[in-house]
Amino acid sequence: MKKSEIADDTLRAKVKKLQVSGFPPLFVSVEKAQEQLNPDQTATFQEFYQGVLNHQKLENNGEASEADLLALRSLAQKAVMAKLLGIQIVRDVALNFGAIPDPKYNWKYFTDPLGNGEILCWTCGSQILCKNVIDSIHFKNMRAPGAGGGEVRGRSVPYCPKCDPKPQGGIVYE
Ligand SMILES: [Zn+2]
Repeated sequence: MKKSEIADDTLRAKVKKLQVSGFPPLFVSVEKAQEQLNPDQTATFQEFYQGVLNHQKLENNGEASEADLLALRSLAQKAVMAKLLGIQIVRDVALNFGAIPDPKYNWKYFTDPLGNGEILCWTCGSQILCKNVIDSIHFKNMRAPGAGGGEVRGRSVPYCPKCDPKPQGGIVYE
């Protein structure tokens, strides 16, 4: 995906704010949420929700095209800009269709909206790779600094081949 197709500057600025503030609290239900929306937000939510229903119908008939998936993503981005992330369905669709990057990846990567489960870089659009690294575990409570039982542990680290340094194992203090 090209950088310009991922998000415009306004949405990127909004995501930067989310990185700091986190998601707003969730409403207990769509009904409760709707009681608090202003008319513009209500209209945006209705348009978004209609898009979700249309997508479901297409998906059930096996007819969802790339254009439909991108249209749904763009509706979700509109809903994010209208401050509707307190509504569960908006949050779910926004994350699952890559409208915004996922906090589970430190807000750096997003799900490919075209549905093949790939993770892409929010900054450059590259496909995210994974590297297995080995950490050596050192125990804080041991008297000699840096002393450890020689224990090592593996973990899988996602990274963008363009924007991130290649992950390396390190020393973990426990
Ligand atoms: Zn990148």
